Amino acid sequence: SIQFVLHKVSKTYSSGSKPALGPVSLRIEAGEMISILGQSGAGKSTLLRLLAGLEQLTEGTIDFEGKPLAGPQEKLIAGHEAIALVHQDFKLAHATTVELNIRQMLRGRGIPDKLIQQRTRQALQLCRLERLKERKIETLSGGEKQRLSIARAWVTKPKVLLLDEPFSNLDALHKEALSQTLRDIHQLGTTVLWVTHDAEDALSIPQKVWVMKNGKIVQKGSPQEIYTQP
Ligand code: ADP
Ligand code: ADP
Repeated sequence: SIQFVLHKVSKTYSSGSKPALGPVSLRIEAGEMISILGQSGAGKSTLLRLLAGLEQLTEGTIDFEGKPLAGPQEKLIAGHEAIALVHQDFKLAHATTVELNIRQMLRGRGIPDKLIQQRTRQALQLCRLERLKERKIETLSGGEKQRLSIARAWVTKPKVLLLDEPFSNLDALHKEALSQTLRDIHQLGTTVLWVTHDAEDALSIPQKVWVMKNGKIVQKGSPQEIYTQP
């Protein structure tokens, strides 16, 4: 089923300047996995923030599951429940453990303890953090922190997981672990959308690639198609 419908969406940060994004019209199906590739300034983060409901549109409409996500006159919707955004600069609570950091996300939501335990275990497993569950945050490597940020986002069971440059600054081993994690999360039915400026990273997972340039999506295809028609 269709999850997002973007109709002639554009975003201009200051009046008179050219749009950082759009106008773009596109659809995203539930359960898709898409990597968005583009140079710095192409509008990737703007698109992610709009999809997360964290930014006001300048023009157009975004529907999420048949209802408007945000309109030009609407107020900022902070942190839409069904849609989780993992930032590049993961802000994690220090002085606590990996496991507690994940559990924390489920507190105060009326979720039974047993379910909290079960979901936390699943998140640890998915994000390859089981061996590290007792570790303090400040002892983790960049790649481990990245996976913890994803575990924290995933454990709340969003329908859509958006990631801003998840592969940046990771070595080959951490990239491989992360790519497995994203594939597993996708397999479990979550829509996964991530942005990168690195063509190799964008093409590393077999899914859809959208190429962005100057605020527009200029090419869509499989990694093979993108690779052979540069
Ligand atoms: P990318 O993520 O592809 O690097 P961005 O969406 O961050 O692209 O930026 C697209 C354009 O919009 C750039 O020209 C950037 O300078 C501008 N921009 C992004 N965020 C803001 C902002 N908060 N205020 C003003 N301009 C912004
Ligand atoms: P990314 O690394 O994802 O491309 P950017 O470096 O473009 O992100 O943006 C990082 C932060 O700076 C964002 O919060 C964005 O809104 C803000 N920003 C980007 N460009 C501008 C700009 N020209 N003026 C003001 N804020 C900006």
